[in-house]
Amino acid sequence: MKVELVSVGTELLLGDIVNTNTAYLSKELAALGIGVYRQTTVGDNRERLLKTLESAFLENDTVIITGGLGPTDDDITKECAAEFFGRDFYFHEYSWVKILERLTRAGRTIITENNKKQALIPDGAIVLENFCGTAPGIIIEENNKRIILLPGPPREMRDMFEKSVKPYLEKFSNKKFISKYVRFYGIGESLLETKIKDIMDSQTNPTLALYAKTGEVLLRITASSDEESECEKLILEQLDVIESRVGEYIYLVGDENVSSTQTEMNSIVSNLLVENNFTISIAESLTGGKITSMLVEKSGISNSLLEGIVCYSNESKVRTLGVKEESLEKYGAVSEKVAEEMLLGVANRLGSDFAIATTGIAGPNSDESGKPVGLVYIGIYAFGEVSVKKCIFTGDRELIRYRTSIEALNEVRKIILKNL
Ligand code: ATP
Ligand code: MG
Repeated sequence: MKVELVSVGTELLLGDIVNTNTAYLSKELAALGIGVYRQTTVGDNRERLLKTLESAFLENDTVIITGGLGPTDDDITKECAAEFFGRDFYFHEYSWVKILERLTRAGRTIITENNKKQALIPDGAIVLENFCGTAPGIIIEENNKRIILLPGPPREMRDMFEKSVKPYLEKFSNKKFISKYVRFYGIGESLLETKIKDIMDSQTNPTLALYAKTGEVLLRITASSDEESECEKLILEQLDVIESRVGEYIYLVGDENVSSTQTEMNSIVSNLLVENNFTISIAESLTGGKITSMLVEKSGISNSLLEGIVCYSNESKVRTLGVKEESLEKYGAVSEKVAEEMLLGVANRLGSDFAIATTGIAGPNSDESGKPVGLVYIGIYAFGEVSVKKCIFTGDRELIRYRTSIEALNEVRKIILKNL
């Protein structure tokens, strides 16, 4: 692979900004064992950019362009690239949804027509999600040639390079690459980032990339070397450092694919129960069977999961689980007391080793006077010991129910690990 890096922006030619993108990309590509043969800077000008592309592809097979993917008229990179390869545009719905989400989150109430321009993708191109901004990246491939378009703002460019371009380029490198995925629960993306920022910023092998998922954070560690065993070694050393700083939040280290958006908490808990021959019973009010169904997703759980009861009404709580009428009257269904009675009720029915009980307010309206939406009590029973955790979750109804389920499973996970 012979790469030419092209930076687009009149500001660069005027010396108003320093070209840090090129320095970053050159360094990263060198670390991948991929040769950069030329670096070019061109202004925001259609003819000159097209000429640059022609000349670049005479000598090289891969052009990486940064800049000019914005929504305004002077952003012309995508148009030039599509013209060069003779491609039309189509409207990419997924990118548009992501752009709308980002603009709305940033407090934008008026979304203009030209924002839609960023969701236009050349036919047949690979779309790279932008996790830090609006403009998606683009790869167009043709006859062993390829052009890779990345946004100009360095933060967006680097994140996209790390998360999408690098995995794409690995197949052109002579080196071996190995990635491990570390899943965190109970720590937010920004706090995790501050705790390992020095490593993320300074290190080139292995490299680290963070992905925020609902209620979890995923960290990808990628090492490259001539030998797989050397990659494994580099990763293990890195893992040691990370574990020493934030090990308490790690619940899984695995090789699974990064695109999987699903949690692995249910598999982990399911495995722990099955492997140790532990039994569990579950009583669910606000989660409505979600925890049970998350466990049932994993085959092999039948010997461990004794029952899952959805006791949504007070009547069911009383009749099925033996919750006391007076507790419901005095404390309300969403209370520590009722969670505890539900828990003991379901644990005693079949005498399981573990039990979970959930009761809370998923919203959108609070049905118990004075109690806030998101208030949840999670009861955990383990070998005769009872504990009830009070949580306040944010988010909509679905998210509150989801967070409750994961939190409950995580509590069981922690107790099992502590007792092994
Ligand atoms: P935007 O949506 O912000 O317009 P864009 O993809 O169109 O993004 P540009 O307009 O070319 O990118 O650049 C946006 C900003 O990113 C510039 O003002 C500059 O601060 C920074 N930038 C662009 N290119 C580079 C570069 N090569 N090196 C360092 N910073 C850059
Ligand atoms: Mg721009």
